[in-house]
Amino acid sequence: MNRATLADPPLDVARLRADFPILAQTINGRPLVYLDNGASSQRPRAVIDAERRYAEEMHANVHRGVHTLSQRATDAFEAARERVRRFINARSIREVVFTRGTTESINLVANSFLRPRLKPGDEILISWLEHHANIVPWQMACEATGAVLKVAPINRQGELDLDAFQALLSDRTKLVATAHVSNALGTVMPVREIVTLAHARGVPVLLDGAQAVPHFALDMQALDCDFYAFSGHKLYGPDGIGVLYGRESLLEAMPPWQGGGDMILSVSFTGTTYNQLPFKFEAGTPHMSGAVGLAAAIDYVDGIGLGRIAAWERMLLDYASERLSAIDGLTVIGTAKDKASLVSFVLDGVHPHDIGTILDQQGVAIRTGHHCAMPAIEFFGVPATARASFAFYNTREEIDVLVDAVTAARDMFR
Ligand SMILES: *Cc1c(COP(=O)(O)O)cnc(C)c1O
Repeated sequence: MNRATLADPPLDVARLRADFPILAQTINGRPLVYLDNGASSQRPRAVIDAERRYAEEMHANVHRGVHTLSQRATDAFEAARERVRRFINARSIREVVFTRGTTESINLVANSFLRPRLKPGDEILISWLEHHANIVPWQMACEATGAVLKVAPINRQGELDLDAFQALLSDRTKLVATAHVSNALGTVMPVREIVTLAHARGVPVLLDGAQAVPHFALDMQALDCDFYAFSGHKLYGPDGIGVLYGRESLLEAMPPWQGGGDMILSVSFTGTTYNQLPFKFEAGTPHMSGAVGLAAAIDYVDGIGLGRIAAWERMLLDYASERLSAIDGLTVIGTAKDKASLVSFVLDGVHPHDIGTILDQQGVAIRTGHHCAMPAIEFFGVPATARASFAFYNTREEIDVLVDAVTAARDMFR
């Protein structure tokens, strides 16, 4: 694991910010304060350059041509896969499937792994704080098969009730699917306990890692989950590219999801022989430049060190939580002991949408709404929240700007 130690120098954030061209602009006449990293983080020049270099020097279709460019493209694409494997410490590149993102990764598991195994009365266990991408695919599988979606409750802090979770595991449970980190509340879920409890009953576990991957080092072998999903665009990489990690023995037994090129070895009208892993799950021309950009993003993040990133973001989270909580009329939604890198809040008498609009006038970008996690937000009796989500390129000064802008928004409505 990649932990910060006292020997690690603190981040030189001013220097790192210079790597992100988009951050050096004014919005509505004010310096941009980008605090919507939970929705999408920004790309460093290294990622933009890698995508451009791919387009200028390597682009052709992968896995097909014998010509030099096609081989170059294939090498770059497969090197990106190996880079992802090393980043998450998967055993083999056969366990690394490129997808369009977290949503597609989860849908792949719902369709290819789960549906064929579901009978009426079978159960899928999720938690109350899931993103819609980790709710709706399971609901669709239930509708198609007569299976039942079970939801483990959370407490008023936004933490999973582990006892209730354990009690909901049964012989009928066919899959557990939870977030690693909640995008709406910031809760870090007790994923080791979840995996241990589920495996004790022989139930496989999918983790939605969209909000975890940018913030701490991952190790699939240590985590021992069965599936793990994440997106490039939340990891300082391109949009339209993501990853499904899957345990090889499970992927091996799963039928392909979509049909087409790259997922087949041979086709005749009497039958088709499917390609080996991971290509079996990558029908059609993949997002090659996206994979190359994702690998560059991983290089960039690893170059800083996830331990140092986590330590800096911890400081930002503590500082923002303390300063925002001190604003009269502001309530933080989601106060779990173990949180990562975001603060959701509501302000007495001001609709979150108005907070977002007023902050934008000050150059401050935050997210407002239900964050694609309506049940989690409604659990707290509010229709929406404002959410500031941090990256390692954010600073204490930016949080001061946020706090001043939120205070001004409150005063406007008083
Ligand atoms: C963003 C997010 C998703 C969906 O990711 P996409 O990149 O839109 O597919 C799923 N789960 C969580 C927790 C997220 O934050």
